[in-house]
Amino acid sequence: MKILVINAGSSSMKYQLIDMTDESVLAKGNCERIGIDGHFKHSTGDGRVFETDVTMTNHTEAFVQIKNALISEEYGVIKSLDEVSAVGHRIVQGGSLFSESVIVTEDVIKGIESLIPLAPLHNAAHVQGIRACLEVFGTQVPEVVVFDTAFHSTMPEKAFIYPVPYEYYEKYAVRRYGFHGTSHRYVSGRCAELMGKDIKDIKMVTCHLGNGSSITAVDGGKVVDTSMGLTPLDGIMMGTRTGSLDPSVVTFIAEKEHFTPAEMDTLLNKKSGFLGVSGISSDDRDVTAAAEAGNKRAQLAIDILEYDILKYIGSYTAVLGGIDAIVFTAGIGENQSSHRSNVCHALAYMGVKIDDDLNAQMIRGKEGKISTEDSSVAVYVIPTNEELVIARDTMALVQK
Ligand code: ADP
Repeated sequence: MKILVINAGSSSMKYQLIDMTDESVLAKGNCERIGIDGHFKHSTGDGRVFETDVTMTNHTEAFVQIKNALISEEYGVIKSLDEVSAVGHRIVQGGSLFSESVIVTEDVIKGIESLIPLAPLHNAAHVQGIRACLEVFGTQVPEVVVFDTAFHSTMPEKAFIYPVPYEYYEKYAVRRYGFHGTSHRYVSGRCAELMGKDIKDIKMVTCHLGNGSSITAVDGGKVVDTSMGLTPLDGIMMGTRTGSLDPSVVTFIAEKEHFTPAEMDTLLNKKSGFLGVSGISSDDRDVTAAAEAGNKRAQLAIDILEYDILKYIGSYTAVLGGIDAIVFTAGIGENQSSHRSNVCHALAYMGVKIDDDLNAQMIRGKEGKISTEDSSVAVYVIPTNEELVIARDTMALVQK
């Protein structure tokens, strides 16, 4: 069975075609700058690459590019679209409506649309992606939606209710939802496999550290708390996002600078974090290089990030009542061994011990344990694979 995985953004559409017989990626690519000018890149598992500037005025036109590339004589990987058994879509916000993946129906699309106020950019784009897929593939190819929020739906009320007047939860569904759930689900499951244990018996903290970052406490395979909230702005400091802060900081700056809510939103989401503190870049590699060259604000940004990670692991260990494993994943978690090292050495008080050589080697897609045999907590680096989770869920639902 071959499954097409789609991640539709407001101006982009990423895809992977996965052969489920061996879970190999047959082809992947990205349609960028949809509705602006348009750039399309497609590459195949056997190393063929096709790249072009091409106008795509909407998501349907982007789908046509993807379809043509998949069946092209030169760059294709299948003979006809009939070989695509199903399409799985990544959806950012499932709200309280969706606690697991489902097959797309008109009601499901309406449900995702109804959640647009909670994720304006993302969910609107996802709906466009689903409708465009229906237009190009027709209704005979089943579509499945997999939600970033679903894995977090097991959180208890005390972890997801914000202490604002309860009426705002009732009126507007204001609460913690959490994001990157598909990634946390993948790495927590994989961690249990690597430990050779039943996930039901493991207490772990999974750290997804990328441009957007979130940390999750997983008890026996179920999320009990996560750092992102109503939106992906909450939690630890990120590339351009603040993470948690005293809400008065927001009203104080807005009043002083006469910023509108929309301007504040831009400041908190796009101009803060690594970029805001260092004044250099949102990218960890640039900030790390600047810190190594002696830039104090770059070093400060790194110190804040490592301090945030440490605080979350500490507080979630208390929430879990102990900890068996820590997992690092995503761009920073998989590659920046210095942050892993500083965080883990600071956790020595609770018996965390890592092998520095192993840690330094565990980069660029490598998977494995970086803790020593006598460490009381197992520490793993696990490259995330959200597309594979989406493909697996899609296959399971379609076969049902
Ligand atoms: P996104 O949240 O956009 O998916 P990623 O998971 O790709 O982001 O993470 C981006 C971050 O990961 C950047 O800060 C970047 O510096 C860091 N990163 C990505 N690749 C590497 C690498 N090979 N070496 C060091 N850092 C990396």
